[in-house]
Amino acid sequence: MYLPDIELHEAATLEKAVVVLASYAPDVRLLAGGTDVLVDLKTGRVGVAHLVSISRIDALRGISETDDGLRIGALTTISQLDRSPLVRKRFSPLLDATGKMAAPQIRNVATVGGNIASAVPSADLPPILTAMNASVTLWSATGRRSVPLETFFVGPRQTVRRDDEVLTEILVPEAPPGFGAAYARFSLRDGNAIAVAAVAAGLLLNSNNTVQDARIVLGAVAPIPRLVISAGARLIGQPPNEDAFRAAADIALKAADPISDLRGSADFRRELVGVLTRRALTTAHQRAKEAQ
Ligand SMILES: Cc1cc2nc3c(=O)[nH]c(=O)nc-3n(C[C@H](O)[C@H](O)[C@H](O)COP(=O)(O)OP(=O)(O)OC[C@H]3O[C@@H](n4cnc5c(N)ncnc54)[C@H](O)[C@@H]3O)c2cc1C
Repeated sequence: MYLPDIELHEAATLEKAVVVLASYAPDVRLLAGGTDVLVDLKTGRVGVAHLVSISRIDALRGISETDDGLRIGALTTISQLDRSPLVRKRFSPLLDATGKMAAPQIRNVATVGGNIASAVPSADLPPILTAMNASVTLWSATGRRSVPLETFFVGPRQTVRRDDEVLTEILVPEAPPGFGAAYARFSLRDGNAIAVAAVAAGLLLNSNNTVQDARIVLGAVAPIPRLVISAGARLIGQPPNEDAFRAAADIALKAADPISDLRGSADFRRELVGVLTRRALTTAHQRAKEAQ
């Protein structure tokens, strides 16, 4: 497999990147870590004449605290996210995903922005970020906008991002007291194996120990990371126990829309969704109690 002839543009600033993007859109892609897009170009899944490298734009790096949560620069690598003391202390459910992704060689170059923007249905960060109410910021030459992750994905490898927009940051709000989240995934082996099925859960407990809010998000079993509102709603007002989690899991597995492939049949994946939903809810509940 060879790369086709492509003109590579190196942008030193975000302002430059969005101008170059706008001038070549739609015949252009951004290049971050390259772990997805270079494969896509080699296999012919993506055919564009221009690549805009953003890897020299320092403004897109860094993990920091904001007034109301966490900012992850789009160029943050999976390894950097995984090793961040701030994430470990206050946003640790993200580590459920980063700890399972790929192998060190990939994790050291693959970026968080690329993991989201590529919109591959099996990507690990979108479900847990969605369960944690994250949003992304999109910049273009004409302005910027903020999009909640739950409305960002529209199909496999398709998002609401326009061709002339750069995803600059991911914002995760500070969790209120009594909130816990968790991500559970199944893959055929550890390391360099994508998820066969995955579920993220976010659970907010009332002071009387019933569920005030719940978010259940499916990964790798639908065209997009799917927020199953009805499964979360089933838990609201309930005591967070095994029966309630089982009822929510039954709703979640019916909302899955999996494919059959060499990693597993659609029926197997649906079964996994039931198990993983209960597992994610149980861990999220434990963490929610600790955060009360
Ligand atoms: C061997 C291997 C194993 C893998 N295992 C896993 C795994 O276990 N879990 C998992 O989730 N993923 C896995 N991946 C997928 C991949 O590493 C991730 O999706 C990665 O995070 C993509 O980031 P990148 O920086 O490499 O993106 P790139 O390849 O540079 O870009 C990917 C796409 O996103 C666009 N893009 C990138 N950055 C931006 C931005 N800031 N704004 C707008 N658009 C942007 C690009 O134009 C391109 O279309 C694996 C990949 C490989 C090769």
